Amino acid sequence: MDFEVSEKMQTILGMVNDFVESDVIPIEGEMLHGDQETVDALVGAAQKRVRQMELWAPNHPVEVGGLGLSMLEHGLLTEALGRSPLGHLVFGCQAPDAGNVEIIHKYGTPEQHERFLRPLVEGEVRSCFSMTEPENPGSNPAMMSTTARKDGDDYVINGHKWFSSAADGAAFAVVMAITDPDAPPYSRASMIIVPTDTPGFELIRNVSVMGHSGSGYATHGEVSYQQCRVPRANLLGGEGDGFVIAQDRLGPGRIHHCMRWLGIAQRSFEMMCDRANERQIRPDGGTLADRQVIQHWVAETAAEISGARLMTLNAAWMIDEVGPKASRDEISAIKFTVANVMLRAVDRAIQVHGALGVTDDTILAYWYRHERAARIYDGADEVHKSSLGRRLLQRRATGGSCRLGTGSE
Ligand SMILES: Cc1cc2nc3c(=O)[nH]c(=O)nc-3n(C[C@H](O)[C@H](O)[C@H](O)COP(=O)(O)OP(=O)(O)OC[C@H]3O[C@@H](n4cnc5c(N)ncnc54)[C@H](O)[C@@H]3O)c2cc1C
Repeated sequence: MDFEVSEKMQTILGMVNDFVESDVIPIEGEMLHGDQETVDALVGAAQKRVRQMELWAPNHPVEVGGLGLSMLEHGLLTEALGRSPLGHLVFGCQAPDAGNVEIIHKYGTPEQHERFLRPLVEGEVRSCFSMTEPENPGSNPAMMSTTARKDGDDYVINGHKWFSSAADGAAFAVVMAITDPDAPPYSRASMIIVPTDTPGFELIRNVSVMGHSGSGYATHGEVSYQQCRVPRANLLGGEGDGFVIAQDRLGPGRIHHCMRWLGIAQRSFEMMCDRANERQIRPDGGTLADRQVIQHWVAETAAEISGARLMTLNAAWMIDEVGPKASRDEISAIKFTVANVMLRAVDRAIQVHGALGVTDDTILAYWYRHERAARIYDGADEVHKSSLGRRLLQRRATGGSCRLGTGSE
């Protein structure tokens, strides 16, 4: 394995790290306590400075103005941006837009590129990804009820979705719907681009998550599609390609999530160390850092983050070397490992901060609320563990290797 990046990339990472520290983290206070309008203005101003630095949307493919990064470089950039909840938004590479850019770039027609991809890449509009349904298990998306029926030159979409993240204010949704109910389970569904001003598209509510329904970008929408009519030209890829495209979106996307979580874990850890060093708990000057239990948490958290980071960089490097399919064991392993390492780091940092840790005077409580979902989306822990465990056992039974890091093919 080789985690070396070019000199140019090292310079970019240095610039991104500095900018997150100087220009993004200071906006967090307003995000936690201020009004949305002020946050939008501050984020807009920071985005302008990012464009001036020519670092806008660096993750995109070269053809659409990005830097053409390898998966490893992409991961390192995401880790740097993940140190603030606003990092990706300020640099124009936030979910779910980044994933939608990838799939529209890869599967879209020239007309879709001009109408949907270009404004998305420019940051003129936002989008959402509308697959999960409240009435069906997201863990088994083949069980889906939303339909897209052909009618002349149109599709007519009917269904009920939720957790369409960032639907509030989005210009369009990429919707997963059944186009052929008689096809084999994984060929039944297609992806269709639906402008949110189409009659029949209704944002029912921003679902309240851990006490916050949010507004604008930081939301999870419940959406109804009622006789929602869009031209057949809005089909993304071929009919029945929905699951293939979804897999394309999810596989490498897990590297992004894991590296973003490592950014969160590292910053939480640094906050925990600083608080332990500063917090005097005895009149003679003794601090929390003098306590053995805190020293153990520091040691354990450092080791866990370092192990999780090496696993993730290795998975990223493997995707670059052998592709996502042959790296699926490593991808499953990092998905549940890193999510739990990050959540433990945030939880320990809160514990060391005491009452301050559960206030919104630091970023920790925000992460505690928002990042709990890491163990659920993009494949719940249990789903990844079952499929990884099953594959390793099968390989061992047939004389293969049950060691991770060697590729599954
Ligand atoms: C913050 C957040 C953002 C999201 N953003 C989006 C988005 O933008 N677009 C979108 O379409 N969806 C989004 N989702 C939805 C997400 O993809 C689903 O929540 C996920 O797929 C799980 O589906 P579910 O919630 O229906 O849980 P279920 O499928 O009902 O599963 C519930 C639980 O059952 C267990 N379980 C499930 N299957 C198995 C199994 N085979 N073996 C053992 N245990 C199992 C797991 O513990 C799992 O957590 C988001 C979710 C969250 C929380």
